[in-house]
Amino acid sequence: MDKALITNAFERAKRSIVGGVNSPVRSFSAVGAPALFAERGEGAYLYDLDGNRYIDYLMSWGAIILGHAHEVVRYAIEDASKRGTGYGLSTEIECELAELIKQAFPSIDLLRLVNSGTEAVMSAVRLARGYTGRNKVVIFEGCYHGHSDAFLAKAGSGMATFGIPKSKGVPPSFVRETLVAQFNDLESVKAICEEHGEGIACILVEPVAGNMGLVPPRDGFLEGLREAADGIGALLIFDEVITGFRLSSGGAQKRYGVRPDLTTLGKIIGGGLPIGAFGGRGDIMERLAPLGDVYQAGTLSGNPVVAGAGAAVLKELKRTNPHAELERRAAELARGIEETARSAGVPLYVSQCGPMFTCFFTAEEVVDYKSARECDTDRYASFFRKMLEAGVLLPPSQFETAFLSTCHTDEDVAATIRAAEKAIG
Ligand code: PMP
Repeated sequence: MDKALITNAFERAKRSIVGGVNSPVRSFSAVGAPALFAERGEGAYLYDLDGNRYIDYLMSWGAIILGHAHEVVRYAIEDASKRGTGYGLSTEIECELAELIKQAFPSIDLLRLVNSGTEAVMSAVRLARGYTGRNKVVIFEGCYHGHSDAFLAKAGSGMATFGIPKSKGVPPSFVRETLVAQFNDLESVKAICEEHGEGIACILVEPVAGNMGLVPPRDGFLEGLREAADGIGALLIFDEVITGFRLSSGGAQKRYGVRPDLTTLGKIIGGGLPIGAFGGRGDIMERLAPLGDVYQAGTLSGNPVVAGAGAAVLKELKRTNPHAELERRAAELARGIEETARSAGVPLYVSQCGPMFTCFFTAEEVVDYKSARECDTDRYASFFRKMLEAGVLLPPSQFETAFLSTCHTDEDVAATIRAAEKAIG
């Protein structure tokens, strides 16, 4: 595979952008590969600067569900941008996007659009603290909620990838109110609630964890969190930045039938452009300025080009209802890769939920951060490099999730399994 233009581009990038990348995991350093430079995308495929084609399972880290450069998204962006790229004033397209989100998420009476998942979670937690008058936040080891100070304690995603348990630059006092429980372990939640109950503002969780690799909740875990929150008068926040409109039209909360008080969203709702959102019960959301006393704001929040792209995606999802088909294809892919490994005698556990999957190099089921960390990350790195060489782009870390789009075909899945046979065998 020719990589001459990419090599030059990476050298160029390193001269002006820290580490050559604008987000750490893009460096591919955890899998011992050079950063990939994208030239363009088309449906399920990504083309790099040197013209190599990959079946893309990164899908902009889950921000894209209709495949690259989908025509409804391109049209929406063109249509909105013809009139201007933003006014710092309200527009009708923001209402349309908000209404589409509300229709899909019955737990959301009111919402706010922001510019990233980080911002959405930061704002939702501030609101939970303002509403309850309490300060403590329960999070789960290996989950990731963006890079704001309070959540950089034992987090997943790039923190897990690069083995950074806590970031420098976060004063200890800023994480003093952050309590870390174990995913899929209600006993760890109970113990924290017993000790700190009255002081806890919210329990914040990725209902299906995607940032320690993909780890679905065990039966009863999410219901148990609902009960635990109710038992101490705290709010339950589902961080559905990845799972919203990905796992089902109504996210993980619809799939598992558990209703949170607040929900954070991002990725898909912006049609591949920068966005975040948080919303939930009306009586809580009305505590936000200008109605209430919890402050939150944003120059570019609800940007009409982004809102147009997001609304176009949500309407297309509503029209085509692709989630069952996405799940069938992802399950086939997961089974195919797992069978390949079994025949080769390689310990591999493929976790899959909806159109998301992770190949964990371990013989054990992965249920939490501890079991995720026990996987053979060197073996993942070698698998990643061989798959890339064979034209398949997976997430460049054991602790991230792969995504199918509606453009991935059965033939793409079969080609991916054939590539895995060679990579694993
Ligand atoms: N929450 C979750 C569950 C995420 O996966 C992410 C990012 N992948 C974020 C929050 C932060 O979103 P952003 O990168 O848009 O700030």
